[in-house]
Amino acid sequence: MEKIMFALVVTIALLPGNTCTNAPTPSAPDRRLPPAASACEIPTCASPPCAANLVGDVGCTTVSGTEKYNNEQKSVGGTVATNAHIFGPFEAGFSSSQQSIIEGWGCTDASVAYDTAGGLDLGIATAKVAKACNIVLPRVEGTNQWKAIVGYCGGHTSDYHFHRDFACLYLEQGGHSTAVGTIVGTQKIYGKWEDFDNRLLPLLDACGGHFGPTPDSPSTSVYHYHAQDRAPWTVGCLGPGAGNTLVSVATCRALYTSTSKGCGVTPETMQIKSGGGTGSADLSVSYTRWCPCFDAEDKNVLPIVELPALSTTSISYTATIVAGNFGGLASAGISSSVPVAGTTSSSSGTTSSGSASSAHSALVGQQAKFGVLFVAMIFAITVGLPASP
Ligand SMILES: [Zn+2]
Ligand SMILES: [Zn+2]
Repeated sequence: MEKIMFALVVTIALLPGNTCTNAPTPSAPDRRLPPAASACEIPTCASPPCAANLVGDVGCTTVSGTEKYNNEQKSVGGTVATNAHIFGPFEAGFSSSQQSIIEGWGCTDASVAYDTAGGLDLGIATAKVAKACNIVLPRVEGTNQWKAIVGYCGGHTSDYHFHRDFACLYLEQGGHSTAVGTIVGTQKIYGKWEDFDNRLLPLLDACGGHFGPTPDSPSTSVYHYHAQDRAPWTVGCLGPGAGNTLVSVATCRALYTSTSKGCGVTPETMQIKSGGGTGSADLSVSYTRWCPCFDAEDKNVLPIVELPALSTTSISYTATIVAGNFGGLASAGISSSVPVAGTTSSSSGTTSSGSASSAHSALVGQQAKFGVLFVAMIFAITVGLPASP
């Protein structure tokens, strides 16, 4: 950890535009000389479960991809190189260093989006910026200009690091998504589908992993991670649990007991836009900065509603989305609900909709309105807290 933090500090000092908090200006990214990238370091975890880095590498990608949209960092057709950093869910914060970036999202007064405390996952950070700036995020302008905190592929900044999706690193076809990176040891992270042809999404533990066959281990069940359309997006911790078990939300939280940068931080009330930043409703939600352990209701505050994966032997559930990355940016944007613990979560059966469906109905209108089909990034907005007036 210290080593990685040191490396980050050195990186920040030597390479302007190299971290979440210091990204290049959006106006002319392709005319800059490419900065030297810092090397990605695969974490170690001698006795899992382990805490993952809250800022810094939680893994490294193992394939390259091609960007589908212009964004602040890449142009259509640009390459996302392999061995890119995989970060966890959190941004380190926004300050005047990101003024031009934030203005590039369409925020006329960037200062309203500043958030120096950091520790917001990509989902709530996006919804909070959308509310503060009164804009829709993520969105597509014109035919191919992507507006969001991270690009369509799921990463950003000149020292490219993924926070989510890996959308251009795998194809939505066939069965289990292919691997996009290594998290720790031989553990890999895959695209979001457990079985694309049958529209099955994986049931995951609090770390973001589960046991099952993979394209790399077709006949032996192994612990592996998936990209997911909800926090922690990549990984919340390094699993599995003791004795080769799934990691509960409580076990995850116990890995991050810090009261200054962990699940011991006092929750705050956040003002956000619905639909993960694509909706029009104003919501007020409780959120714990720097706590990467999200429950079945996509909350990282107490009390915990345990994840459905912990109470079933099924490893997947039927998705109601047709296809699509970036929170379900899809050819048909329908809801991608996670089943509630204790209810139906069969790998071949139906899916219970949980608490996300109402947020979704509102979202569908927005999808049509803006000509972009997003599936909700389901997180704390669905916890049933009252909307602010
Ligand atoms: Zn970042
Ligand atoms: Zn899987």
